[in-house]
Amino acid sequence: MNIKEIDKEFVAGTYKRFPVEITGGKGSIVWDETGREYIDMGSGIGVTSFGIADEEWQKAVTDQIGKVQHTSNLYYTSPCALLAKMLCEKTGMKKVFFSNSGAEANECAIKAARKYASEKKGEDYFTIITLVNSFHGRTITTLSATGQDKFHELFQPMTPGFVSVPAGDFEALKKAVSENKTAGIMMECIQGEGGVIALDEGYVKQVADLAKANDIVLIIDEVQSGNGRSGALYSYMNYGIDPDVVTTAKGLGGGLPLGATLLGEKVENIFSFGDNGSTFGGNPVCCAGALSILSRIDSALLEGVRRKSKIIFETLAGAPGTEGISGMGLMIGVKTVRPAAEVVAKCIENGVLCLTAKDKVRLLPALNIPDDLLIKALGIIKKAAE
Ligand SMILES: *Cc1c(COP(=O)(O)O)cnc(C)c1O
Repeated sequence: MNIKEIDKEFVAGTYKRFPVEITGGKGSIVWDETGREYIDMGSGIGVTSFGIADEEWQKAVTDQIGKVQHTSNLYYTSPCALLAKMLCEKTGMKKVFFSNSGAEANECAIKAARKYASEKKGEDYFTIITLVNSFHGRTITTLSATGQDKFHELFQPMTPGFVSVPAGDFEALKKAVSENKTAGIMMECIQGEGGVIALDEGYVKQVADLAKANDIVLIIDEVQSGNGRSGALYSYMNYGIDPDVVTTAKGLGGGLPLGATLLGEKVENIFSFGDNGSTFGGNPVCCAGALSILSRIDSALLEGVRRKSKIIFETLAGAPGTEGISGMGLMIGVKTVRPAAEVVAKCIENGVLCLTAKDKVRLLPALNIPDDLLIKALGIIKKAAE
């Protein structure tokens, strides 16, 4: 049996894989078992921030592997402490809880909001308001937070205490806050899985003001949009708001599993010993890799992200076979006339890997994708959409 056949027989059938076995890569190029090359416009769903086998990241990771690969959280390690410090210094947040994934980062944020509200207002203040069409993860509780009914159907009952309201409808949110004993509001500023839709700036500011006025914990899910992806370090920074909790994962570790929940002033001391934990969270190898990523997301890099974004918008806006382009930075959705899955399949045939999100073709290239590769990939995507 070849690898595709073995995978189909022995790996649980939760993933509809593209017909490509990736055996290696370099930067924004990956290759398959036959040596065929593809331009990578998905970066493992926004994870390999500086591409495949990025040398600086690789050195940071392998150096750390040569020292100690895991200690548990019973001991201090330098990468974990230094990464927490760097995250706080770059955002103004006060403390960090490390985990291994976006879902876990969000679980921690929900715990923080509920503990805060319970202590401050009473145990019945536990509702978390989220937005319709959001995506917050695959655990039962983060699925409960996810405002898409289709994710709930097979796994009832969901965790109680979640209410979702239409994104962009401030009156609906205000009503939900007045009708529920609310602990937190959780949202993505750019809905990723929901179709790469950036929320309106005025709306986001209104939500932040409402949260502040009612002492509600405002949680921004930056799992996909964070770590430079939107053209700012975190997407909320494009909106001029000041969240209480920020969660991130995907691009933070550059390819190794790492989730982070950043706690702002309101909740910085909400957790005591034993309130949360993770065996692998803050793993020194993952954190060493993340330090090499985060330290390079500076103003010059972000300027490059915005410039590359402009190239994408200018090339694909109004292209034949497209109906619209959305998103921010290098997190982009292209609505195509033909089904997105068909366009993506055609792209693969012609040597470009991209993703879908709802009815869009989704592009999440590495933050440092070279301009020539980007332009070449866009040509192939444009042709596939025609
Ligand atoms: C991917 C994603 C998650 C879930 O992250 P996992 O690492 O798969 O658990 C949560 N929120 C958003 C916005 C995401 O894009």
